[in-house]
Amino acid sequence: MSDEGEAVVAAVAAVADRLETERSHLTDLDSAIGDADHGGNMARGWAAAAEAVAELDDPEPMAVVKTAGKTLLSEVGGASGPLYGGSLVFASPELEDGLAAESSVAFAETYLEKVQDRGDARVGDKTMVDALVPAVHTFKKSVEVDDMEPVAALSKAVAAAERGVDFTVPIRASKGRASYLGWRSVGHQDPGATSTLYIMEELLDVATAYGEAPEELPDHAESPTIPDGEVTED
Ligand code: ADP
Ligand code: MG
Repeated sequence: MSDEGEAVVAAVAAVADRLETERSHLTDLDSAIGDADHGGNMARGWAAAAEAVAELDDPEPMAVVKTAGKTLLSEVGGASGPLYGGSLVFASPELEDGLAAESSVAFAETYLEKVQDRGDARVGDKTMVDALVPAVHTFKKSVEVDDMEPVAALSKAVAAAERGVDFTVPIRASKGRASYLGWRSVGHQDPGATSTLYIMEELLDVATAYGEAPEELPDHAESPTIPDGEVTED
């Protein structure tokens, strides 16, 4: 398997672990303004996705993301299954050539486009879109305008998603189940924006680990050199 494919498989496993850890927190958030199933939906769906991608024979990034998305689609109902799963499947072809900066930006933009096509939510509706829009725009700008490496750009994007999650607290929900509560949704953090942030944090962790030079590489500054003029022939 390619290093990039290996990194994406590791990322899906890391997301599954994290969402299992956050299961009860996400359920608490969804019980305040929804139907208390978001923790279970995410933990169950991503655990199944991690199992499915671990079984792939040739796990290149596109295939891994497509398989994870299809698994979420079949395992998770409600709003979040089709939004997460369908958007991953739809955006996966952007990774056909791997995870280079340009492909990663195209993937992020296509993913967001599909979430918005499918859910018809805009910033301010108190959904996962409130975390995704600033994250994707920040990622794109950091790569294309500020010329950052993808991992550094992803770190900026995670910070933007975090601010997006905070922004969901004081606003009123206009989409999804939480919108049934009207003004009573004010003061609560959106579960889907929160799970989006957790997923991005795990992607950043795995990308950082894969981006680091292997420890066994010798430090260049300490490489032995033969000083000029000191080579003798015995
Ligand atoms: P359900 O609402 O069907 O119970 P979940 O609880 O798993 O599904 O997911 C709820 C989350 O889905 C919300 O917190 C919100 O972020 C997201 N969501 C709901 N409707 C939409 C929508 N139309 N567009 C984008 N995200 C949405
Ligand atoms: Mg729910």
